[in-house]
Amino acid sequence: METIEFSERLIERLKGATNVVVLTGAGMSAASGVPTFRGKDGLWNKFNPQELANVDAFLNDPKLVWEWYNWRRELIGKVQPNLGHYALVDAEAYFPEFMIITQNVDNLHQLAGSSNVLELHGNVMRNKCMDCAAVYNGKHIDHNNIPRCPDCNGMIRPDVVWFGELLPQDVLQTAQAKAAAVDVFFTVGTSSTVEPAASLSYMAKGNGAYLVEINPEPTPLSDYADESIHIGADVYLPRLVIELDKIKRWTM
Ligand code: NAD
Ligand code: ZN
Repeated sequence: METIEFSERLIERLKGATNVVVLTGAGMSAASGVPTFRGKDGLWNKFNPQELANVDAFLNDPKLVWEWYNWRRELIGKVQPNLGHYALVDAEAYFPEFMIITQNVDNLHQLAGSSNVLELHGNVMRNKCMDCAAVYNGKHIDHNNIPRCPDCNGMIRPDVVWFGELLPQDVLQTAQAKAAAVDVFFTVGTSSTVEPAASLSYMAKGNGAYLVEINPEPTPLSDYADESIHIGADVYLPRLVIELDKIKRWTM
């Protein structure tokens, strides 16, 4: 196993922490085989996800956008959580309050068994009505024959937040309140470029949290973080749990 050094400062902060948040992004699921948007192999056909994951694209060509989501659904339906997801399930036991705030729409934290997951960007396995927002669970959509909402006749779309759309305001407020009152904040597998999710990390450190970034590549957040560790989430998080076990055995 790769050696990962845990700094004295991080260990001290983890010892005293009662409240820990982990913000996750697409890199969290990379080791499960879910492509990231900005990674090397993040493309579907020749489209840039930003060109498809927005409301104008959907209104222009709902069939194409649904075809892309059906492809993503099929892919996500076949994959399993990785060791990083499972490590975050184990990590819950070491802190009185532990929350995952995820930008992912792939349901893998829930599938792994994490009990406190806030979905910032919805869930690709759910559908909703374009007009009245009624939620329809898990139904496969035939992209050649997109169904209409039985209540209002609106078009059915994936229940995810598209580029240019507002996040569900109650979810965002909960996330911001958490970020403002946390002891240690991990930012894992996100390029820290999609707002308002990216701001949560700045908000956490600005309010006194110890900020740790886990990402094989540097990001715009790297210099601001207390520590930026360039390693995969699937490698780092299982090692973190071993470390927590050592630390907390004597302090809990
Ligand atoms: P992003 O695609 O912008 O960035 C992914 C980051 O993960 C990159 O910085 C990359 O260096 C890093 N990374 C790659 N492999 C990693 C690993 N093994 N461990 C840790 N990090 C790794 O993703 P984002 O910041 O989450 O923003 C993209 C938006 O797209 C989000 O809003 C999200 O909802 C959506 N999205 C979701 C999924 C998913 O649900 N799995 C996949 C793609 C995109
Ligand atoms: Zn409707």
